[in-house]
Amino acid sequence: METFLLENDREIYTVAFFGTIAIVAFWEGVLPRRQSTQPLRTRWFSNSAIALANLGAISLVFPIAALAFSIIIAEHGIGLFQMLDVPTWLAILLGILSIDCGRWLHHYLMHRVPFLWRLHRVHHADHDYDFTVGLRFHPFEGLFTTGFVFPIILLLGPPPVAVLVAEFLVGVSGIIVHANGRIAYWLDRYVRLIFVTPDMHRVHHSIVRGEHDSNYAAVFSFWDRLFGTYVAAPAAGHTGMTIGLPELRDSRCLKLGWMLLSPFQPMPKSLPKDPIKPN
Ligand SMILES: [Zn+2]
Repeated sequence: METFLLENDREIYTVAFFGTIAIVAFWEGVLPRRQSTQPLRTRWFSNSAIALANLGAISLVFPIAALAFSIIIAEHGIGLFQMLDVPTWLAILLGILSIDCGRWLHHYLMHRVPFLWRLHRVHHADHDYDFTVGLRFHPFEGLFTTGFVFPIILLLGPPPVAVLVAEFLVGVSGIIVHANGRIAYWLDRYVRLIFVTPDMHRVHHSIVRGEHDSNYAAVFSFWDRLFGTYVAAPAAGHTGMTIGLPELRDSRCLKLGWMLLSPFQPMPKSLPKDPIKPN
């Protein structure tokens, strides 16, 4: 099983990624959680275009690079797990959890360090919430995201299959948690005890600072409860809340050119002249 996964990593990742997109798009079409406030065509075109840059350069290549790195580390017997002779099953479990915990820290830093926030706010500047927001990342953020995994692999030396599963989970979860799909309250309550759900992550895209500086977890939801950054629901409710950032209500934020260039332009000092009305 392990050999099969490692030999077909790229194919498995690609099928899972695009398969999840198809299922989530169907879910959003049949059971939408919120009404769109902006033209779908503009947003989907821009978000898909920036995703293409990411998919080609980063999302499909770099996870494989992390996996290749973990194979080299394993072959040389480097890392805490190998030094301590941790049983394989435990090393896989701890490896997956450690990488996901590292992603919580990475996301926290993206919000706290000013030059990282300039990259990450591209993701937060969309004015609606659907699976395409999960594709809307500046390519330079993608480099930092994947680079963050390498020191964890070097330090712990997790089995390569743990790296593969962790990358697979975060790729699929990135689409699911941004879904504009309705889920029964009781089901959401149970699922979010372990996994991040769309209703949990949507809070993170609220225009309210105290809400968008919360719920940083990528796959496993318990990191936010553990580190005191968990917010259960937006104060205005899921249908009443406004998505986006208060200083970026301009319709240019939905365009590809802005997404690519904005990290290198001055931060907006005041609200633009043609702000979009809060939804
Ligand atoms: Zn964020």
